Parts: sequence; structure tokens; C-alpha cells
Amino acid sequence: MSGSTAVLVIDMLEDFIAPGAPLEVPAGRKIVPALAERLERARAEGTPVIYVCDAHAPDDPEFAVWPPHAIQGTEGAQVVGDLAPRPGERIVTKTSYSGFYETELEAELRSLGVDHLVMTGVVTNICVLYTAADALMRGFTVTVPPDCVAGLNEKDHAFALRQITDVLKPAQE
Ligand code: ZN
Repeated sequence: MSGSTAVLVIDMLEDFIAPGAPLEVPAGRKIVPALAERLERARAEGTPVIYVCDAHAPDDPEFAVWPPHAIQGTEGAQVVGDLAPRPGERIVTKTSYSGFYETELEAELRSLGVDHLVMTGVVTNICVLYTAADALMRGFTVTVPPDCVAGLNEKDHAFALRQITDVLKPAQE
């Protein structure tokens, strides 16, 4: 599969993961060890790791709905230290829930010849879910390892995983 798979790391940023962060996802801290291990494995196999990260303008309309977070150029918009991108790894910035919306993600994946995505990060029922939906509508197959994603709460997390598994029907790993 190597060469046609990429691992996406979604929004594992200080403003989502750090204790007391503006959009703190406490469960996000629990997935860091499993995710770090998965990224190491991907790198060892030569599978591309692509970071998909919120990067908002200070007056982004999204802040009418959510507290200000991940403002471009701030510490809060940085990937957490334990999962920091390695030199040469791609960071795709986004301003909405889907990593495909008005970003270069699809072009990047096509240029790498990727057709299967392993999706990791936060939030299971928001950016992971909508990015997974968008990926499937674009013809990619998707795998979401449950130990590498986290939701705002258990119920929404479980709903999103069920939605991805039962409705969107990702590839089996
Ligand atoms: Zn955002």
C-alpha cells in the first residue's frame, strides 16, 4: 500500500490540545502516544504524513460560533511538540471544518498519487468527520483508527465513528 496511502494529522494544535486551551479537547492529549507511534511507523514505511491545520485570520467569521483559536502565526496554531512535523513534511492550512475546502490538499494528494487516507487527530465529530466525508466524495478511501482520533465528548466521538464506519464505509485496514 505504501505510496498510495497518506496519513493526515488534523488540528493537533496547541489551541486544541494544551490544558486550558481556547478549544481544549481533553481527550486529544490521550491519543498523542498512539498517534506518535503511528506517525513513526508511517515514516519508516515511507508513507507521507500531511498535517491539516486550522489557521484563522484574527477576525475569522468562525469566531462567531467558536472562541478565537489557531490564529495564523500564533503559538496556538502550532502543532503540539510531541507530534511536530519533520523537515519536508507538508502542512496544509484550512479555515473551515473540511481539510478540502478552499485548500490545496486534494492537489497535493493527487500529485503524490495517494488514493487512501488514514485520518487522525481532532475533533472526531467535526473536522475529522467532515474531512472524511469530503475525501470519500472525492473518491479517496478512508481509514480512521479509533485510537488516533478524539472528540469533545464520548457520545459525539462514538456517533462520528459510527457515521464514518456505517454510512461513509471506509476501507478496511
Ligand atoms: Zn477553526
